[in-house]
Amino acid sequence: MLNNSVEIICKHRVQGVEIEASQIKGIKAGEGVLPCATAIIATGGMSYPGTGSTGDGYDWARAAGHRIIPPRPGLVPLVANEEWVKELQGLNLKNVEASAYRLDGSRINQEFGEMLFTHFGVSGPIILSMSRDIGEVLYSRQETVRLCIDLKPALTEEKLDARLQRDLDIYSRRQFKNSLDRLLPKKLIPVIVALSAIDGNKESNQVTRVERRKLLQLFKSLEITITATRPISEAIVTAGGVEVKGINPKTMESKLVKGLYFAGEILDVDGYTGGFNLQAAFSTGYLAGKSAANTACLCHLKQ
Ligand SMILES: Cc1cc2nc3c(=O)[nH]c(=O)nc-3n(C[C@H](O)[C@H](O)[C@H](O)COP(=O)(O)OP(=O)(O)OC[C@H]3O[C@@H](n4cnc5c(N)ncnc54)[C@H](O)[C@@H]3O)c2cc1C
Repeated sequence: MLNNSVEIICKHRVQGVEIEASQIKGIKAGEGVLPCATAIIATGGMSYPGTGSTGDGYDWARAAGHRIIPPRPGLVPLVANEEWVKELQGLNLKNVEASAYRLDGSRINQEFGEMLFTHFGVSGPIILSMSRDIGEVLYSRQETVRLCIDLKPALTEEKLDARLQRDLDIYSRRQFKNSLDRLLPKKLIPVIVALSAIDGNKESNQVTRVERRKLLQLFKSLEITITATRPISEAIVTAGGVEVKGINPKTMESKLVKGLYFAGEILDVDGYTGGFNLQAAFSTGYLAGKSAANTACLCHLKQ
């Protein structure tokens, strides 16, 4: 197809790039080599390989002398140890606050918003945003991470205690397990009752102050042990990739190979959810495209 003097060739798997004397010479595809004065490698990361991004470009960049920061999952769901998490599969929690802690008690990060329970653990916007830093702790320190969910972040402990007391009073003759409807989603109630170790069958007016205290702790800090991230193939974005030190940020051209450009997720650039990764791909793609076209024109004029 020819449009604006550009030929677009689809459905061809590129096998590599041909470089001679630190200058790009061609693109290897099919049986032959497509000669070129400039080329942009924009093969994406290694996430969601079904979309075509299988990490091919890393080998080409490595062969060109570039350093590759080991690719790892960027925005990715997290695997939990507790069996009860699986019982909550499909439950979406809004307006909660999640905090992640290292084993020494220091906080990794904290997010407020929406999360989701799955058959393996947790996902949803705030979990994905937290997953990059949590993944670093999981893999660099080889330790589990404690994820604490505040189910009622808008209420102080005192206010929540008063609220709990009020509901237990209102439903004083009901069984305890049937008295939390106004405070929790239905699916979560049996889990919280079991974790509280309070006899769910006893009347609410029999719940002691100590038991109410335990309940309060669960509401303010529902603890989940994170043991792993899901694999990179399930990550929304790949962290790591072509080291940006080897790229000229004004043009996206390789500092090692003339005429070779990089753009998008193949680079060691990744961001939070919210369009930052798409924006990075669009911006670097635009810049690489403009710069490569300028270089190609200059080459054409010299010939
Ligand atoms: C499910 C999902 C949801 C996402 N949601 C968001 C979001 O809400 N906001 C956000 O900012 N980002 C989001 N992202 C991330 C965003 O889509 C990527 O960061 C962005 O698409 C990267 O663009 P790219 O062009 O660098 O790579 P890609 O979009 O991965 O494109 C790379 C292309 O190269 C092709 N290719 C690879 N190897 C070869 C080869 N050897 N020969 C020929 N072609 C090849 C692939 O087929 C593919 O078409 C999401 C990603 C996924 C998977």
